[in-house]
This record gives sequence, structure tokens and C-alpha cells, in this order.
Amino acid sequence: MRSDRANVSEIFVSFQGEGVHAGRRQLFVRFGGCPLRCRYCDTPESLTPTAVCRILGADGGRERPNPLGVADLEREVAALRTQSPPLHAIAVTGGEPLQQSDFLAAWLARDTTGLPILLETAGIWPERLAAVLPWVAIVSLDFKCPSNTGERARWDEHEACLAAAVAAGRDVYVKMPVDEETSPDEIERGARLVAAIDPRVPLFLTPLTEPLAPTLTIGVPTLERQQALASRHHPDVRVLPQLHKVLGIL
Ligand code: SF4
Repeated sequence: MRSDRANVSEIFVSFQGEGVHAGRRQLFVRFGGCPLRCRYCDTPESLTPTAVCRILGADGGRERPNPLGVADLEREVAALRTQSPPLHAIAVTGGEPLQQSDFLAAWLARDTTGLPILLETAGIWPERLAAVLPWVAIVSLDFKCPSNTGERARWDEHEACLAAAVAAGRDVYVKMPVDEETSPDEIERGARLVAAIDPRVPLFLTPLTEPLAPTLTIGVPTLERQQALASRHHPDVRVLPQLHKVLGIL
């Protein structure tokens, strides 16, 4: 993929569903493509590049062919902003947006959105994260537990990403998706890792749901045990279901 063009699967306005800024209205730019295949993935349509980008505005939805150039994306974001209520930030999400980090850097460096940039990432590419950090205000970082993703462990990459975001002075928080299968050892490891880098960084345990339904795949007693376990190592561990799943919105 050339760095001046990107695969974008969706552009829309919604409530942020996770982390410190849950409940704030944001404009989401969802990039297509992700190298991971988490068992619980709730955006399966964005795992591979999509033929079209869906733009969901007040006037309904429309589609345009991929890939989009920087100027195309700027026009679509600006148009959606003019139709929207006041917005808190631009949420750059995926898929894994850092899969197209060259494009991301080219777009963000132009600083045309007029809003803070919130980057949602799986935290597996520290060098790519460092390359876009100059233009990112908020980093929403996932820690992936192999016991529930089915993927290999990526603790070193997560650690390097968190360290880079903290060193850059960014507003950062960590989310650890959890279900009944999540290993207690991994919960403790994630909590220790965040606390060792910066105990002021909140750690969110995100109860997982069925991939395409709001049904939780974890019970409250397990969540209570996990929160207590993580809290042995980290002073600020919170449990927060995904708001967009509760509301049944994007
Ligand atoms: S990192 Fe996110 S988009 Fe990629 S497979 Fe996992 S849940 Fe899905």
C-alpha cells in the first residue's frame, strides 16, 4: 500500500465506548486490516482491506471506493464534522490502524482535523507508534492476553508501546479484554507491567461479549476476582463494559 493512500473501512460519529473517555462523542476513522486474529474480535469486517469505505452521516450512509488519499479523507472528515454535534476527538481505530502507519503519519502531520487525535491500538508495533506519537494526544492501548485471544503473547511489544506513550507525556490508558477463560497469571502480569511503567496509567478490565451480540462472556463473580487480583499490583484497576455494545451502536 502506498503511504499516500489508505484502506479505510468506515467513518462515523458515535459515543466512545471504552476507557477514560467513554461516553464522549467522537468522530471515528476505522482503518481496514489487522495482523491479529483475536478469538473475540468484534470488527471482523475490518480484518482485511475493504473494497469500499462506508461513510455514515446525518444524511444516511454512502460508500466510496478504497483506497482513499489524504485529501479524500480530510474532505470526508471535515464534511462529517460540519453535520455533527460538538465532538471531543477524532478516534483513529481499526482493525489495527498502525498497519498503515505511513499514511497515518502523512495525514496527521497536516493537522487538519482541528480536534485531538485518540489512537486505539493493539500495542504490538512500538516503532510505528513512536512514528505517529507527535500528532496523537490520547493513546488507548490494548494488552492482549493469549489465553483469550488465541494469539501468541506480545508483552514486550505492549511494554515498549506503553513506555513510549508515557515518555512522550501522552494521555494514555490500558485496556485488557477479559472473559471466563482469561488466565489469572496474565491478568497479574499485565497489571504489574502497567504499574511498573507508571501507576498513574489506569488499567481497564474490559468484559468481553459475544462477537456480534451484547451478551457478556464473563460473569460478575469472575470480574470481581480479576479486579481484586490486578489490584494487588496496580492502584487504579477499573471494570468497564463497552458502552457501544450496551447501547447497540457502532
Ligand atoms: S487486534 Fe482488534 S481488530 Fe485485530 S483481531 Fe484483535 S480485536 Fe480484532
